[in-house]
Amino acid sequence: MKFAALLMALLIAGCNADDRPAANAESTKDERIETLERKKRSVEKFFSPMTVKDGDWLDTQKEAGETFEEYVASDPTLPTAERRTIYIQPIGTFTQDQQRAISLTADYMRAFYNLPVKLNAAKPLGNVPKDKQRRIEYRNNLQVKTQYFLDDVLPKMLPKDAAALIAFTNYDLYPGDTWSFVFGQATFSERVSVWSLYQFSRPGQKTDFNQFLDRTLKVAMHETGHMFSMKHCTKYECLMSGTNHLAETDRRPLDNCPECMAKLAWAMKYDPVERYQKLSAFWTKNGRQDQARLMTNKATAVSGVK
Ligand SMILES: [Zn+2]
Ligand SMILES: [Zn+2]
Repeated sequence: MKFAALLMALLIAGCNADDRPAANAESTKDERIETLERKKRSVEKFFSPMTVKDGDWLDTQKEAGETFEEYVASDPTLPTAERRTIYIQPIGTFTQDQQRAISLTADYMRAFYNLPVKLNAAKPLGNVPKDKQRRIEYRNNLQVKTQYFLDDVLPKMLPKDAAALIAFTNYDLYPGDTWSFVFGQATFSERVSVWSLYQFSRPGQKTDFNQFLDRTLKVAMHETGHMFSMKHCTKYECLMSGTNHLAETDRRPLDNCPECMAKLAWAMKYDPVERYQKLSAFWTKNGRQDQARLMTNKATAVSGVK
């Protein structure tokens, strides 16, 4: 549990959105908000209330959550005309399955956020300074310190029009000497983050491709939500809920709950029906009929609300 607590502490440090003074909710209330408040209710039936098990994020961490209305009132970071592209940068040497998962993540991101997404060609790791790497002898794997990416590599490659730059690496990551590993870390002020695929499917571990893909999609969509100031969700089992371990990640849906869907639709000026249809098309194209049907059912539910 000590490890889990440490991991959690780091994720909190890396995951918290800025604390911003709340704007006057009344002044931002408009017809679009009222319409989304009605639309979000039509998809409540597709989501389960949050459950908390031993060792879960909310078992060890107190969080208030955030409603759609609170998000709107929080003056969140939104994409602008100058900064609206999400860049995905693979760093390292990837297996075919990993390459496929990263490419699908770019496709899902486009449908999910309605923003331009650019998948860059993979770059090599480069020369990691001695004090930013270590070797875990019993697993014989090289670990790279997250600061190498967050301080040395990514800020230099951040394009001017980037809403966010998300790096994926196949190297195992650690944030400091007392840590075993970490899934990833973000620096929101710099709009950069790095996430490791290593723990999602460790060498020698049997992981089904769909499970590996789902984990990758969840992490990428979740972290991008934080880039647009969305806080952790506590109301539903939601893609934007905090997670402490992989079983918790696996339990979470591949979509935002009604509250977090409304935040996204408002922030991106994205029609929920169009969004669900695009997500359904993604899953149809990739042979996941259960997910495709779920998204189509959500589209049908929202389309009846004016
Ligand atoms: Zn988070
Ligand atoms: Zn949510």
